[in-house]
Amino acid sequence: MVEKVYVTYTDQILNDFKPNLMIAIGGGGYVPARILRSFLKKPGSPNIPIQAIGLSLYESLGTDSQVEQPGTKVTRTQWLDLSSLEMANLIGKNVLIVDEVDDTRTTLEYAVKELEKDVATAAKQAGRAGESTNFSIFVLHNKDKQKKGRLSEDMMKSGMYLAAVTVGDVWINYPWEATDIEEHDKMAENQAAQ
Ligand code: 5GP
Repeated sequence: MVEKVYVTYTDQILNDFKPNLMIAIGGGGYVPARILRSFLKKPGSPNIPIQAIGLSLYESLGTDSQVEQPGTKVTRTQWLDLSSLEMANLIGKNVLIVDEVDDTRTTLEYAVKELEKDVATAAKQAGRAGESTNFSIFVLHNKDKQKKGRLSEDMMKSGMYLAAVTVGDVWINYPWEATDIEEHDKMAENQAAQ
């Protein structure tokens, strides 16, 4: 008989990522991060804390100045307070970034790069530049498509990126976005019956 090994996402996250802290990218990442926290809870260990950041994408036409190139830009709508313990909290930790979907990857590229940069600054200021902070990523869905954003080879090769499901280039309606959950469920049922 073939020996079967059942590996869960939780095992992989706990054993490989070993997160001390989660950063949820709002609003889509809040619900998955909160659910994940319950699944990652080990008896006798405290809950993994969740901090929130908010990013928003906009299309830049490149007309604002001579220098700006056309393309997708990201702005911070919510960020960790650089001067308080919020950012210092990340130094030397394994930080799991959580979002609901990796579409063009613009958001994730920005989040990883900016967090790495800000943690490095905070570590330097605190005289803790020697401590390495590791970032990993969990998304519910990754869309298999040409990406605009890039994540480092290191992160992808070392398996620090985990997508629960890979889908085509479709638009996903999550239940937590629905204002009429019965209607949402009906649509899902109809789709499943097709
Ligand atoms: P990005 O293109 O930067 O990977 O994704 C930007 C954001 O767009 C995501 O964090 C998510 O909030 C939103 N988004 C992209 N694709 C979908 C989708 O299929 N469904 C939903 N609900 N949001 C999406």
